[in-house]
Order: sequence, then structure tokens, then C-alpha cells
Amino acid sequence: MFINRLLLILAATVALAATPKVSYAESTLSQINASGSYFSNNDEAVSLATPQHPLSIPKKTPTPIESYRWNRRHIYIYMDTDNLQIKQAFRNAVKAWNRPDIIHFTWTKDAEQANVFAKGGDLSAHGDNSTVGTNHHGLGSTQSSYDSAKHALLTATSILHPNELQFTSRNFRSEVAQHELVHALGLAHAPEYENSVMIPRNVRSGITKLDRQTLKLLYQ
Ligand SMILES: [Zn+2]
Repeated sequence: MFINRLLLILAATVALAATPKVSYAESTLSQINASGSYFSNNDEAVSLATPQHPLSIPKKTPTPIESYRWNRRHIYIYMDTDNLQIKQAFRNAVKAWNRPDIIHFTWTKDAEQANVFAKGGDLSAHGDNSTVGTNHHGLGSTQSSYDSAKHALLTATSILHPNELQFTSRNFRSEVAQHELVHALGLAHAPEYENSVMIPRNVRSGITKLDRQTLKLLYQ
């Protein structure tokens, strides 16, 4: 099945930021790896700035989290693609994430103001910058740069791959965009036994109650 193949591609790679890690996310990823899915973990991150006031990151959440979050709930997002399918997917995902009223994405036309960038792009060209955490797979990818000592996100770029997604359904594209935007908010991959949009091989649940609860814990 075409969709099954896509879901396998989706799970191709995940690379996590190295310092400092949330132990819950760590152990969860080990479980995923142990269960035989298609992960490889590459640690690649360094601190970007001197800490002053670290943001509080919950120890345990229903869906695993990375070790960082935005220091704000109102997040500006910039559409950096002309591809209509990709634009629609990101727009739908933003609506889906604004609905629970935990964080709020606002579209901005000013790239300078933007916190998150929504892009279409070929994901085979994906750099290894040591100051970013990257969650990467064949359909989508999110790169986040952050101050690891403060646990503060500085910028995030979510990319969807137009060629891989063009023959999928509008719903599916929106779900992949939801998945990528949650990376941009600081959530990590979920194990397969959970009900979460953060399961790389199966984003079809869309945003779940556990995902909303996690975001609430992270941004309360
Ligand atoms: Zn992912």
C-alpha cells in the first residue's frame, strides 16, 4: 500500500538535541528503538547563550517532550512556501493547534517577527548544524535552535516535502504538518503504543487528548 510505504518513510530518522536531555524522552526513544522501528538517533547540539532564568520543563508528560519550549504562548509563524498543498497543510495544522487554546499561532508576513517558519522543501538536503536539534524524516522535518541552558527555543523551521506528499490526502498532509508543528513547540516522538500525533509511523490520529495535555503541562 502506498500509504503504508509513506508511513515507513515517515519514520526514517530522528535526531535529537543533545544537551540537556529530558530523561523521559530519552527512555521513551530507547523503547521505540528497542521495539524495532526505523529510528536512528544522532546527538547534535551545543549551548547558544549564557543562562539566566531557565524555563521550567515538566519531568513527565503523557507525550514525550524535548528539553526546551518557547518562553511565550503566542507564537508567530511565517509561511515560507508557494506550494498550495503545503500552505493548506500548515494552515489546517495551525487551526488544529489553536483550537484547544493552549498556545496560539498567529500568521505573520514579517519574517523578522517570526518564531516558526513553515516551509516546503527537499529534505534530502538537510544540514548538520551543531546548534540545532533536528527531527527529520522523509515527509517532514523540523529544526529547532534553542538555548539549552535556559531550555528556551529561539527559532524553529518546519519543512514538508511536497513531492512525497502530493498524492496523499489533504487530511494526511494536515496531520503531518500538525506533527511537525508540535516538534516546533518542543514535543518529541511518542512510542507506538500511545495515542498521539507524535508517533512517526502513524500520525493519523491527529492531535490527541494526550498531546493536548502534554502541551498544557509544557506551557501552563
Ligand atoms: Zn517527527
